[in-house]
Amino acid sequence: MAPQYDAVIVGAGFGGMGAAIELKRLGLHDLLILEREDDLGGTWHVNRYPGLAVDIPSSTYSYSFEPNPHWSRLFAPGSELKRYAGHVAAKYGLRPLMRFGVTVTGARWRDDHWEVVAGEETFTARYLVTATGFLSMPKTPDIAGVESFQGKVIHTAAWEPADLTGQRVAVIGTGATAVQLIPEIARQASAVTVYQRTPIWVSPKPDYPIPSPVRKLFARLPFAQRAVRWVGSSVLELMMISGVVRYKQLRVVNRLAERWCRAHLHRQVRDPELRRELTPDYSFGCKRPTFSNDYFRTFTRPHVRLETSAIERIDATGVVTAQGRTEIDVLVLATGFNLWDTNFPAFEVIGRDGRDLGAWWRQNRFQAYEGITVPGFPNYLSLNSPYSYSGLSYFTTIECQMTHMRRLFTAMRSRGSAVFEITQQANDEFLERMRAKVTQNSVFSLGQCSTAHSYYFNQHGEATLLRPTSTVSAHRAARSFPLSHYDFSNVRLMTSSPRDIESAMGAANRSGSTSRVHTSRQRPSP
Ligand code: NAP
Repeated sequence: MAPQYDAVIVGAGFGGMGAAIELKRLGLHDLLILEREDDLGGTWHVNRYPGLAVDIPSSTYSYSFEPNPHWSRLFAPGSELKRYAGHVAAKYGLRPLMRFGVTVTGARWRDDHWEVVAGEETFTARYLVTATGFLSMPKTPDIAGVESFQGKVIHTAAWEPADLTGQRVAVIGTGATAVQLIPEIARQASAVTVYQRTPIWVSPKPDYPIPSPVRKLFARLPFAQRAVRWVGSSVLELMMISGVVRYKQLRVVNRLAERWCRAHLHRQVRDPELRRELTPDYSFGCKRPTFSNDYFRTFTRPHVRLETSAIERIDATGVVTAQGRTEIDVLVLATGFNLWDTNFPAFEVIGRDGRDLGAWWRQNRFQAYEGITVPGFPNYLSLNSPYSYSGLSYFTTIECQMTHMRRLFTAMRSRGSAVFEITQQANDEFLERMRAKVTQNSVFSLGQCSTAHSYYFNQHGEATLLRPTSTVSAHRAARSFPLSHYDFSNVRLMTSSPRDIESAMGAANRSGSTSRVHTSRQRPSP
């Protein structure tokens, strides 16, 4: 039986929507987008905490083919990103393809199509795209007694509107989310205690409102906004190249970035002891730095306290450290997301010959050819893969992946094929190239990252999240990767008897296919 859909896409954030737009451009219209939340937008639907905003200039943090002249600020608030997601879905006809409140629990390759399971329901599709995000599995800290706290507990990724006026609030975590949230909480609460395990590099944020005449200009002359985008993207590219990718050659720029952040801290905090506590001891770029104009200053307010000694336990009404106990009413968990334990992949994915993606990644290495395809997983595009995240704006990544999809599907079509799979050899070579770049040039191996606690590193201590190249090189690779890196076939990729193989090959020949017919027996063993 023919599969129900051309493709099932899991995730209705910007990644899943980008993939859907590209597949539609390629003429695949029978798409189903499954989303566990109750609306589209991914991160920008789920995260609603006070202070939420982009920390990449908005002209860059958007699809290049769908500029938005209406951003109110250089760094738009989260609500505008959510609105932008709705606009994109409407314009590209994506909403009717979406089903919300559907949690996919597994997917399995069935010889020539994917079977996707969500609770009681099963969907079949020729292609599977997972766009489940990197930062989508909230992490609850394993602190003794956390579940015994009797007051309100809020994770930043499940924010509930709460009146914090006059409340005593504890915030655990000092990542990019906490940096946005803490100044907002301090405006309401009567006492705020921030529990910091690892400080974060924070730079001033060049954030300004975009005046209405400028917005009108952007609407009338899109190339003006494209010029602003180009400037923003170039600055980010420079930060990424000098701070992370080419640390060996451009260490001095990395040091300047550290000095820039230190000077910012110095301007906002007079107390040298507090400054020392807020200063990271790891190299800039080991972990995601962020921008803020009021984070450091907040700690100088009389009702805000930074606590750097480790949390021993939490009880019914307070938090205990070696320094003593702090009585609180509300516990805010700004503890981030679990990437490597639960999110690679976000659900069980079983490929050819029963290969389990999660187990395979853990037993071998975290890897994906050009950060998008995996050997043993035909017709599968994994958007949130190891080495996929290039540049600082996620839109760079998704647009590279859209380009890769275009080239791949066009080649597959021109061969009259319906099945693609990356070869083991091409995948191995890509992996070795990325590993060499990380080891030889990047801050991850040459800088001091051991105390950063960065989610860029997996559980084996390898920095396998970011693609260690420029975005220019990532785009070039997406446009021109050798097509011989893929196997294209028409028939199922079998594990069955030689007689089945012969009959399948005969069927392909009778259908007049000119493409090569592959079987698992012809492939290099995994
Ligand atoms: P995060 O960077 O992973 O930070 C989590 C914080 O919680 C860290 O300070 C961590 O300390 C702390 N923590 C975790 N478990 C703990 C425990 N058991 N005890 C004490 N502290 C604990 O998460 P995030 O702040 O949510 O940010 C995640 C990412 O979201 C950012 O890097 C950024 O990419 C993205 N983000 C983007 C924007 C945007 O505008 N685009 C805004 C916010 C966030 P350790 O560091 O010691 O582990």
